Amino acid sequence: MVKSQVRRFSPKQLILIAKEAVASVERCVECGQCVEKCPYSVPVPDMLKENAEIFRNFLAAHHLEG
Ligand code: SF4
Repeated sequence: MVKSQVRRFSPKQLILIAKEAVASVERCVECGQCVEKCPYSVPVPDMLKENAEIFRNFLAAHHLEG
C-alpha cells in the first residue's frame, strides 16, 4: 500500500485492513494456480507473503497483534 492510499484511511481502518490482510494470506495454500493463469507470471503467493510481513510488522510496531 502506497502512502497516498494510506492517507485515505483512519488509523482504525488501517488496523482492520492489516489484520484482514494477514488473515487472508494465511488462507493461501500455495497451489500456484494464480501464477499459472497469470499472463505475466506474477508471483502472487510470494507477494502475499511479503505484504503480510509488512502488515505484521506494522501491527507489531503498534502493539496491535492478535
Ligand atoms: S493465492 Fe494463488 S497460490 Fe494462493 S491459494 Fe490462491 S490460487 Fe493458490
